[in-house]
Amino acid sequence: MNRLVKGGLVLGGLVLGLGALRRTLNPTPRYAPWEKPPYGEFEKKVLILGGGFGGYTAATDLCRLTRSRDDVGVLVIARDNFFTFWPMVPGIVSSDIDSRNVAQPLRRALILAGASFRRARVTGVDPDRRVVQAAGGLEFPYDQLVISLGGQPNFFGIPGVEEHSLTMRGVEDAERVRNRVIERFEEVSLIRDDVPESKLTFVVIGGGATGVEVASEIHTLVHENLAPDYPNIDPYRVRIYLIEALPNILPELDPALRRAARIRLLNERIEVLTGAMAEEITGDCVKLKGGKEIDTENVIWTAGNRPNQTVHDLGLPYDQRTGIKVDLTLRVEDHSDIWAIGDCAAVQDVHREDGGIVPPTAQAAIQQGHLAARNVLKTIDGNGDLGEFEYKPLGQLVELGSDFAVNEVMGVRFTGALAAVFWRMAYLVRLNSPQSKVRVAADWIVGIFLRPAVTQIRSTSDE
Ligand SMILES: Cc1cc2nc3c(=O)[nH]c(=O)nc-3n(C[C@H](O)[C@H](O)[C@H](O)COP(=O)(O)OP(=O)(O)OC[C@H]3O[C@@H](n4cnc5c(N)ncnc54)[C@H](O)[C@@H]3O)c2cc1C
Repeated sequence: MNRLVKGGLVLGGLVLGLGALRRTLNPTPRYAPWEKPPYGEFEKKVLILGGGFGGYTAATDLCRLTRSRDDVGVLVIARDNFFTFWPMVPGIVSSDIDSRNVAQPLRRALILAGASFRRARVTGVDPDRRVVQAAGGLEFPYDQLVISLGGQPNFFGIPGVEEHSLTMRGVEDAERVRNRVIERFEEVSLIRDDVPESKLTFVVIGGGATGVEVASEIHTLVHENLAPDYPNIDPYRVRIYLIEALPNILPELDPALRRAARIRLLNERIEVLTGAMAEEITGDCVKLKGGKEIDTENVIWTAGNRPNQTVHDLGLPYDQRTGIKVDLTLRVEDHSDIWAIGDCAAVQDVHREDGGIVPPTAQAAIQQGHLAARNVLKTIDGNGDLGEFEYKPLGQLVELGSDFAVNEVMGVRFTGALAAVFWRMAYLVRLNSPQSKVRVAADWIVGIFLRPAVTQIRSTSDE
């Protein structure tokens, strides 16, 4: 009997403990004023366009800074109801990382922070009426507006790029690249005669961090994940090219790290061509300046980034190449209540003597998001002492396969397997969804023992 009571007490304690744990992991949302009646009737509406690195940071910071107030409401409007965790996008190509963990649930994260979210495609801003227009005739009023609509690929007007290459501007793009590789393997495994070289040649154009990572991910996909499933295809028949117009790949990195990356790529038999400018891309060939041609039906374009075209259409002061013109407080020129941050804003880098702008990176967008939140609040409160933006690069991490990375963190440079572990830890802690953190960590651990099962789930856009 005594034992029965003890057992009951232990079981009861366990159930209560698990209930408490569940409640802690699933906190009650702190609904924003926009969500409570009278809906949207409060003093200051802060509208944030874009739920990426810049917009998400600005929104969550503003919510934190106004936690004890109910006169400020934050509403985020974005085209997608997920947050793309860009550093992990190339990992989707090899199936090292599952897409759903890279596309983080944006609505839930914002609601938990105390902001509101509406999925809508922004089409215009009317500064005189202080409204943002969105597709479907929607209008959203604002008192303060923060624009962080990101970037898009820049094709530099090179003939054939847009028609014949795959881009890397999102989770779907990465899936498309993976599907293309699998598609070619399936096609080639059916061909009995000579296989055209163009089928198994993959050309990645752009030797920046994204291009280097994508070329490595294709190598991993081919050699580690697909080769055992396609015994009739010799993986060494697959050729992977990395093409860069500048004299070096990873130009923003220290020369020693660049060398380490290049040696790694050569060891993986990735053919690196530097000082090579793509002049034209056709359905089965990349033509380089100087006359060299590479037969390929598979081109991946990572060579250029420019501000989102939507921003161009907003009618704000804008430079086609660099983005919305802002001052150092991140305020849009001639607009006291509009701010722009991230890849779509031309923010001057005060440390550059040539007057150049801050590079389009996640860390810059996050730092700008923090400052924009503080400056918006100061403006609302009539405290004119606005902060000015000073970019503080923390370093760069580039992963080349699951067991090698080249990292520079606050001036410290390191490469190899430990650098790859650091890459994984650094980005794992930055994922904002607890579920994704657990799943990504579990996938990586399982991946040490079992190679990922790679399947091709086709959508109509892959046809
Ligand atoms: C493949 C890849 C890998 C990268 N890896 C790294 C890395 O490792 N480290 C690093 O520092 N940087 C990296 N970057 C760069 C980094 O991702 C960007 O600099 C950063 O995301 C910029 O933040 P943002 O807020 O300006 O834009 P984003 O994060 O791109 O967010 C843009 C937001 O705007 C929304 N949006 C766009 N158009 C509309 C519209 N018309 N209406 C409504 N909403 C719209 C989108 O849905 C999204 O929510 C990478 C970029 C790519 C493409």
